Amino acid sequence: MNDIKKVNTFCKMCSIACGITVEVSNGRAIKITPNEDHPYNKLCPKSDGLLDVTYSDKRITSPMRKINDRWKKISWHEAFAFIAGKLRKIKEEDGGRGLVFHTGNPLIGSIGEKMVRRFADAYGSPNYTSGASLCYFSRKIAMSLTFDYGQVNALPSFRGTKSIFLWGINPGESALLQSSVVKLMAGRGRVAGLYRHWYGATGCVWT
Ligand code: SF4
Repeated sequence: MNDIKKVNTFCKMCSIACGITVEVSNGRAIKITPNEDHPYNKLCPKSDGLLDVTYSDKRITSPMRKINDRWKKISWHEAFAFIAGKLRKIKEEDGGRGLVFHTGNPLIGSIGEKMVRRFADAYGSPNYTSGASLCYFSRKIAMSLTFDYGQVNALPSFRGTKSIFLWGINPGESALLQSSVVKLMAGRGRVAGLYRHWYGATGCVWT
């Protein structure tokens, strides 16, 4: 009989880094569940893909190039030569500022993001954006313009709150840090009976 080992770790598909428990059998992860001891453990739907991210045979593991509308596997050497040629051409024609660098969310806060920033510097481009440019920093800028420069990342105070009106946001889907606090309050009867309206609703009222 196989021994199944349970390993507590983090999902790193976004910057929330929710707590997960991974069941491992013969050195292979076979099941992922929320880590009940972790404060952020309400996993979003992306976590369903965690095993596939590691093991799916559909993963793209070598560079692909589209030639005559068809994707073709190419070597790393060919890929680097092709990309270097493109980068050189852009720089010659438009200068370093002609290129925008963008990283997606899993890289935010990681060493990978710092490497992209360093590369943008070396290339001569100040144009760097990331998933945070679309979400986190737009919120920070809106907060600072609305309240004050010092209040750049204000969050609602849930603890004394009797009534919550959500307008165009569902914390269970898009603000998991807040959703954990509200879930905790619901468990203590602070929003009892209304927590069930949370899921599947873009806007809802808790009283
Ligand atoms: S919010 Fe989803 S993708 Fe992000 S760390 Fe948690 S489970 Fe992973």
